Amino acid sequence: MAGYRESVCRLCRREGMKLFLKGERCYTDKCAFERRGYPPGQHGQGRVKFSDYGIQLREKQKIKRIYGVSERQFRNYFEKADRQRGITGTNLLILLERRLDNTLYRLGFASSRQEARQVVGHGHLFVNGRKVNVPSYLLKPGDVIKLKEKSKGMERIKEALEGVARRGVPSWLELEKDNFTGIVKGWPIREELTTPPIQEQLVVELYSK
Ligand code: SF4
Repeated sequence: MAGYRESVCRLCRREGMKLFLKGERCYTDKCAFERRGYPPGQHGQGRVKFSDYGIQLREKQKIKRIYGVSERQFRNYFEKADRQRGITGTNLLILLERRLDNTLYRLGFASSRQEARQVVGHGHLFVNGRKVNVPSYLLKPGDVIKLKEKSKGMERIKEALEGVARRGVPSWLELEKDNFTGIVKGWPIREELTTPPIQEQLVVELYSK
């Protein structure tokens, strides 16, 4: 996660919900949120009442943390989303979904977005036949992601692909598991983004002040 060094499980506890930042561990009873589902710190178990601004701010933090982007990157995505036609909040989520690291995670080549960033950063991939090692690379319909031949034997990628059955591949992507290939069939679909729940309109309200 950009610029974040503490345990990512604290982020789930801070946001009061599972953000699924640690891959397969999130689905086991080792999940820190399952054990201690209250905010970290001395006053974590007390009642916290947020103002409207506080609620909007928390939602922005949550989305940033799910996708693992920095404050500046997130603001840039918002400004880009705001310039596009359509609903700004939906545009924002679609931009975040189109990132190469997220897409790799959605396809099941990595068990978390953090792991996906490493796979991309270490140059294991081709997009449309060209090597791409930039996690924020934005994909579009028709793009083809393929694992390098010598990277196909990597245990953690094989293990991640086993776990994809649990999460499922979204309908805008197609996975050719045996070829280690993913195809972007269309634009991401907002209705498929339900875990964890996101209220992107709160971010629009926050930045519209
Ligand atoms: Fe940690 Fe995953 Fe559980 Fe969040 S959902 S607390 S990242 S194990």
